[in-house]
Parts: sequence; C-alpha cells; structure tokens
Amino acid sequence: MSIETNEINNAELSYGLKEGKLVSINDVEQGLNCECHCPYCEKKLVAKKGDIRKHHFAHYDGDDCHLGQETAIHLLAKDLIAKNKKLMLPASYVKVESKDIGGYSHESSYFEQGKITQLENIEIEAPLEGYQPDLIAVTEDGESIDIEVLVTHAVEQEKAQKQFRSNRLMVEIDLSALSRSSSIDEIEQAVIYEAPRHYINDGKLIIKENMQEELNKKVTTINESHESLNKLAGLRGSVENKYLLMGYKFGGGYSTKYNSHFTVGHLYYTKPVQTHDTGNFTIQASGGVELSQTDADESLISQLKNIELPALVSLRFEPKIISGRKVKMIVTDLLIADNDEHK
Ligand SMILES: [Zn+2]
Repeated sequence: MSIETNEINNAELSYGLKEGKLVSINDVEQGLNCECHCPYCEKKLVAKKGDIRKHHFAHYDGDDCHLGQETAIHLLAKDLIAKNKKLMLPASYVKVESKDIGGYSHESSYFEQGKITQLENIEIEAPLEGYQPDLIAVTEDGESIDIEVLVTHAVEQEKAQKQFRSNRLMVEIDLSALSRSSSIDEIEQAVIYEAPRHYINDGKLIIKENMQEELNKKVTTINESHESLNKLAGLRGSVENKYLLMGYKFGGGYSTKYNSHFTVGHLYYTKPVQTHDTGNFTIQASGGVELSQTDADESLISQLKNIELPALVSLRFEPKIISGRKVKMIVTDLLIADNDEHK
C-alpha cells in the first residue's frame, strides 16, 4: 500500500478501534485511558484532547502511519450500509452499435435511472469465489449485488474482471473526495446517497446481448435492401443496353393537389414492341418498335442539348426513392453508343 501525502490524507485521526469497534475521539477518555488502537496498523493510540488543537488520536509509540483515518472511514462506510440496509444505486446506460454495408451507424440504447434500493442478507467481507467484495447483499429486485467502497484504491482490475465473469451486479461507491474529517453523519449521507457511484458490472449483459441481436437483425434487413437496390441498379444500369433516343422533355410546375412545386424529366425512346401477354391482355401479333417513356434526372439536360436526335444511346438507370418507400428507376446518365464497339 503506497502512502500518499496529499492534504486529504494528512487529516488527523478522529476514530480509534476499541475492542474491535470504531469509536470517535469524542467518546473516549483522555490519553492512554482511551484504550484505542489504530484502525490500520493496530498500534496503541493516545487520545489528545487539549484546549488548543482539535481533538485527535496520535500513535503512542512512533510515527503516525497516515492510513488510520482512511481505514476508519472505509470501516464506517461498510458498517453504515449494513446498518441502513439501503443504498442509492447508480443509473445505468447500455448502448449497442452496428454498421450497415453502406457505412451508416445504427444504435440502440437503454437507460435506467438511479434509484434507492432496500438491501437484505447483507454480509461484510464475505469471501466469494476468487475475490472478496466489501459487502454483498440482495437488492429489493432479488438480485445479488457486490458493493465496493473506495476510499483510497480503485477496485483492482483483476477483481473486477473475475467479478465480471460471474455476472453479478457490482457497484463502486467513491468516497475519495470525501473530507477525511467528516463526521459519521456526513459519511452516512455520502455513502448511502450522495457520493459518486457507478456500476463495475451493471448486470445488463443479457439485456445488452438481446439488444445487439435485435439491432443486428435490423441491420441485416437494411443490408439486404441495399443489396437488392444494387442488384436492381446492376441489372437495369447495364450500359450494354442500347436505346434509340427520340426526344426529351424537362419541366416544372405547381401541383394544386399536393400544394407543392414539382419537376419532371422524361426521355422518349424506342423499344421492341411488347410481346408478353399480361393477365388480362393477350398478344395476337406484334412487330417492330414502340415509343417508351422513362423518368430522367435533370442533370442530363446539358448533355442532351448537345446530342443530335434521334441517337443511339446507352442509358444508366439507378433506383431513386420517391415518396417514402417507393423506389423508381430513373435515368441518371447516358452515353452515345458506338455501333462498332461491343463489350
Ligand atoms: Zn496506524
């Protein structure tokens, strides 16, 4: 144990151990008659209750070990939790993340507010498998909880990891900023309610796993729709398709129906006359080409102005999402097709 020499740690010892119990300097007799020992090094203490300095204990034989007061606060804090049988639990926040194939991040989160819980079956320093928490107890939700009180040392990483594997709830209450000359009432208020606290293990592993699974399902669905859009784009966007472009028309207007401005872009091209029967229409004879119309992106206007029509062109179609979930294929690019060149 390292001995720090900051101001806080040099607070005078105001608690001693008498017959195994912590007692305040206010409740003992003067001098060696106090019959107290240092809570840390267990050496004999003298109660200094003079008129000038604040009353305090001093080590009778040799130097002050400087750790008595912190040890006392730690012992008091544990006793106070056990006595009060309640504890403010920290808030917990669980977040899971996943990226789709488009590189977009999706997340899902869960927040549980801090709350006071009653504690039952409280044990101080009960050894568990591989580690020994300051206290163990059962919350009013019936969950086993490990409680660590930090005065000088953070819970060692190893301890936390062993604990994490056991998936027990584990909370750490941080009293490191608490004044070393605090009264018992102040320590009580701090440890039960007010001191900073956080979960070392919030016991939300299963909730987190379920959330991750749900999110992964959602992202899989998103990925599939990305893939089908790409497939669609690949199919329709093949530049090997050649169309005889006959004309185009771009414009805009105001829709009284939707109370909004709109723009349209249409290309007109020939395609082989439809030869497939439909549900209520049977083709008896067909031949030649027919004029077809497709939507086009406004960015094509300048390109189209430089083309002498009719012209043989390759069109690139891309899916565009219109009005919510509807996807429409529109022409986003065109190339003058070279008759002699084939891929
Ligand atoms: Zn000592």
